[in-house]
Amino acid sequence: MQQLLVDELTGDRVILAPARALRPDTFRVHAEPLPASVATCPFCRGNEHETPPEVARLGGGEPETPGWSLRVVPNKYPIVGDGVPGAHEVVIFSPAHDADLGALSEHAAADVLLALRDRARFHLAHGCRYPQAFVNQGKAAGASIEHPHAQLVALDLVPPRAQVRLDRFAPAAFADDQEHRVVDGAVVVWCPRASPTPFTMRLALADGGSRFDEAADDDTRAAGVALRDAIARVQLVLGDVAYNVMIETAPRDHAGPFRWWIDVVPRITVYAGFELATGLSVNVVAPADAAGALRAAR
Ligand SMILES: [Zn+2]
Repeated sequence: MQQLLVDELTGDRVILAPARALRPDTFRVHAEPLPASVATCPFCRGNEHETPPEVARLGGGEPETPGWSLRVVPNKYPIVGDGVPGAHEVVIFSPAHDADLGALSEHAAADVLLALRDRARFHLAHGCRYPQAFVNQGKAAGASIEHPHAQLVALDLVPPRAQVRLDRFAPAAFADDQEHRVVDGAVVVWCPRASPTPFTMRLALADGGSRFDEAADDDTRAAGVALRDAIARVQLVLGDVAYNVMIETAPRDHAGPFRWWIDVVPRITVYAGFELATGLSVNVVAPADAAGALRAAR
C-alpha cells in the first residue's frame, strides 16, 4: 500500500511505495576495486603541487610535500568566490586512492570530521554565516575526482533548505524521526520515517548541540567513527554504491532550537521525470525494512 509522508525535519514529501519482493540484493552494486594510488590523481601522494596551496594538514612533512595523513586545500574550481562571497575547500581523507569513508581507520574517520569542524569554525570566525559540509562519493553522487574527499562550502547566506530545516525544527519531531533505529548509543543512527530514497540514514549525537562547528572534540570524533560504521553497513548491504553525506547544522547567530545531524543518502535510484516535475520522491523500500537490513549488517 502506498503512503504519502512528510519529513517533519525538512518538509520534503515522499511516496512510500514498497515493492514487497524487493530485497537489498536488488540494489547491489559491484564496482571494480580502485587502485591504491594513481599517477595522474591530484589528490594522491606525490602530486601535492597539483592542488592549490594547502590550508591545513595532519601528519608529518612540509606543506605541498608527501608525509601527510589528511590535507585540506582550496577547491581549484570553487562554487563560490568573487560573485558569490564564500570559501570552498576540499578535505582529502588520506593518501589512499581507494579508501572511502567506510574503509578508513577509526582514527582517520575521526580526523575527517575534526578537519571539517575546524574549517567550518575558521570560516564562521571570518565572517561566513553557514558552513555546508558534504561528501560526493562515486560518479552517481556527483564526484568529479575519484580520490575520496569531503568538501566544505562556507556561505555568507543561509541557504533556503537550511532555513526550512531551522524553521521547522522541533525537539519532538526530531525524536519521532528516530523510530527506525539502526544503532543506539552516544551517536544514534536511524532511517528517517519519510526517507526520500532507499536506505537513507540519519546520525546525531544523543546529546548534541545546534551547531556542528561548536561540537566538542570527543563528540566530533564519536560522530566520525559512527559515520564510518554507518557507511560500512550500507556497503555490506548494498555493495560499492555511490552515496552523499551532508552535515546539517544551524548557522552563526541562530537562537532557536536545533540539533546538528548528518544525512547519508545511498544513490541507488535516480530522480526521474515524476520526481523532477512534482518534487515528490518515490521510495520503494520501507524505512523500517531498510533499518532492519542495516541493523543486521555486520
Ligand atoms: Zn588519488
